[in-house]
Amino acid sequence: LYLDHPLAPGQTVPLERAQAHYLSSVMRLGAGAEVLVFNGRDGEVLARIEEAGKRGGSLRVEAATKPQMAPPDLWLLFAPIKKARTDFIVEKATEMGAARILPVLTDYTNAERVRTDRLQAHAVEAAEQCGGTYVPQVAEPVKLGALLDGWDPARRLMFCDEALVGAGSGLPARAAAPGPWAILIGPEGGFTEVERKRMAGLEASVAVSLGPRILRADTAAVAAMTLWQSALGD
Ligand code: SAM
Repeated sequence: LYLDHPLAPGQTVPLERAQAHYLSSVMRLGAGAEVLVFNGRDGEVLARIEEAGKRGGSLRVEAATKPQMAPPDLWLLFAPIKKARTDFIVEKATEMGAARILPVLTDYTNAERVRTDRLQAHAVEAAEQCGGTYVPQVAEPVKLGALLDGWDPARRLMFCDEALVGAGSGLPARAAAPGPWAILIGPEGGFTEVERKRMAGLEASVAVSLGPRILRADTAAVAAMTLWQSALGD
């Protein structure tokens, strides 16, 4: 369970209505039951339910069970697509350990309104489900041009380019240096030539192929993070 509250052993942590409802009605847990809790800062702790009812409740923190895990300094940038597929990308990026998720508006991005509050809630659920101790921050959408204008040259960019389809997939060994990274997945319409040139012009960027077929953006996000993980993750 994710609770945005300090979690030191001995501490009593209040539960909001929705959280108490989730524990009592969805998980069918009552007073005395044990729950694993994290807040993204203090690792994971074992807590015991003191009360969980219709109007809220409380937990008492008993012991630390896992230290805080530092996520790799990996951002996932993606052009938002249809709602369900965007949800999928956020969920999978959280499971794969992204530290930050940024919806990026490219020239061919054709998305309705991006609800970052909803996406952030999906990230929380995914982190709860995968036993992580960290919830990535979902940033407000930003235009690709503006993002590249302020790009930190120390952050390497792996941009997945459908124009390279069939060019032999993977992150070339010479490019696989440790340090801060970002992966960029384009929209259904792909990238424009102007965008490609801008990205290729960054100090540390690498255009990557994801194999011999054009993948949907949500599949591409998972494939790209897997490639990164196998080259640079632990
Ligand atoms: N409309 C584009 C086309 O037909 O060429 C396809 C865009 S694809 C659905 C969406 C994004 O997924 C691309 O911008 C790229 O970032 C990524 N992608 C999909 N397949 C890829 C591949 N084989 N290699 C590299 N990137 C790929």
